[in-house]
Amino acid sequence: MTTPSSTPSLRLDGRAFIHGQRVWAKAGARFDNISPVDGRLLCEVARCDDKDIDAAVLSARQAFDDKRWRGLAPAARKRVLIKWADLVTAHADELAMLETLDMGKPIRYAQSVDVNSTANCLRWYGEAIDKVYDEIAPTPAHALALITREPMGVVGVIVPWNYPMIMAAWKIAPALASGNSVVLKPSEKSPLTALRLAELAMDAGVPEGVLNVVPGFGTEAGSPLALHMDVDCIGFTGSTRVGKHIHIMAGQSNLKRAWTELGGKSPFIVMDDCPDLERAVQTAVGSIFFNQGESCNAPSRLLVHHKIKEAFLERALQLLPQYQPADPLHKDTVMGAIVDRTQMDTVLGYIKQGQNEGAKLLAGGHAARTESGGFYIQPTVFDAVQSHMTIAREEIFGPVLSVMTFNDVSQAVQIANDHVYGLQASIWTRDINCAHGVARALRAGTVHVNQYDEDDITVPFGGYKQSGMGRDKSLHAFDKYTELKTTWIRIDSPV
Ligand code: NAD
Repeated sequence: MTTPSSTPSLRLDGRAFIHGQRVWAKAGARFDNISPVDGRLLCEVARCDDKDIDAAVLSARQAFDDKRWRGLAPAARKRVLIKWADLVTAHADELAMLETLDMGKPIRYAQSVDVNSTANCLRWYGEAIDKVYDEIAPTPAHALALITREPMGVVGVIVPWNYPMIMAAWKIAPALASGNSVVLKPSEKSPLTALRLAELAMDAGVPEGVLNVVPGFGTEAGSPLALHMDVDCIGFTGSTRVGKHIHIMAGQSNLKRAWTELGGKSPFIVMDDCPDLERAVQTAVGSIFFNQGESCNAPSRLLVHHKIKEAFLERALQLLPQYQPADPLHKDTVMGAIVDRTQMDTVLGYIKQGQNEGAKLLAGGHAARTESGGFYIQPTVFDAVQSHMTIAREEIFGPVLSVMTFNDVSQAVQIANDHVYGLQASIWTRDINCAHGVARALRAGTVHVNQYDEDDITVPFGGYKQSGMGRDKSLHAFDKYTELKTTWIRIDSPV
């Protein structure tokens, strides 16, 4: 297990990665990168702006035009991506430590989830790219129609801070595998692992200019990327508020393709014939508090049948001591720090609002570990939450569970679907008709039956409604980073 002493040579380098070089912002601006673990300064980071984005896009464009990457056989790109995945695994301790120091998640999950998923994602798209075939259309015999996929060109990627490496990998891996060049803007709250990943990519053989990482703030570096006339596609993960703006900027500029993976407020429905109440409670509690509740797909709306609510909540509250925040660098910690003071204040503000609007605070509700200098919140549970309350309507993105009750399955589905988001959902029942019927009725990109935590790179991930458009993961992600071309060939057959 990683500890600070097992990574003595940890390098904290906040410079951008443009055209294969570590560079400071052209204007020389920098910002402080504060660790949420203890509130200390980790390092300075390049505060990039439109000039740096221009340089990165130019480098990516040159790399695309001279075909140094897209001109390689798919099997050759595969070898590089797999080598990159191997390097990520070889640097697991270092990457996990950077991720924990930068965004506060427990080191055990930084390693077992974030590093492993990132390596797996790079490897999977590397493995996939020389196994996907193009198509020939069933046209009349005098012509041949080839339907081929081509890389789009320069892909801009903008990601959030909650899973910095994984969110980047979900986009970079299919984009690079299919031959694009990439300019990645990581979140200003957690830029370090993306920058290190780019160095490892180059070590693995990704040519210079093919992957650039430009840190900075949303309006200063993100907007110039989304507005850039020479960027062909933008892959965005983040809030719905900014996601809407991304589509506007795409339309205002060159109508670049824009794919947005956005917020969620996922319902977790427990019927009174739940087949295993203990597992349902463990799963609901474990999933809402995983990653400090800072997960887009966290089951933040718990819908329990009124007949079993008391039993459910009694057991849920018994589990809370396991989820008290602790030092993220300790190997046994399961709940770490909130990413920064701003996010902590936002979450505490929602908790106050929940109380003001009449929800019943059953547990938690306060900051914790204040003596550490870092940013921590107790696991928090609200009962008697109504659909109209702010804590039911808005994404809190913190360790807060809102409990609601229902009387029958129709009401459960009505409450679940009465929301602007549609990312994920879960239904717990032993009735197969209820399971299938509810799964069909729920307006969500992923529905779980009698579980919540199953996940695999082979399945698409994304949402209905204002949870965004397009899908990450699986072979479907190639749709986002490739154009379909039809080539008609006339056949004047002599026979
Ligand atoms: P955010 O929208 O504030 O920021 C996301 C990224 O966009 C950051 O890199 C930020 O710098 C950049 N950005 C901000 N303003 C911008 C602008 N005007 N122009 C261009 N870029 C801009 O989101 P966040 O707080 O970093 O992340 C939390 C959100 O991400 C939550 O809503 C969560 O649900 C969502 N999320 C969704 C998924 C998914 O797959 N659906 C996964 C993870 C997180």
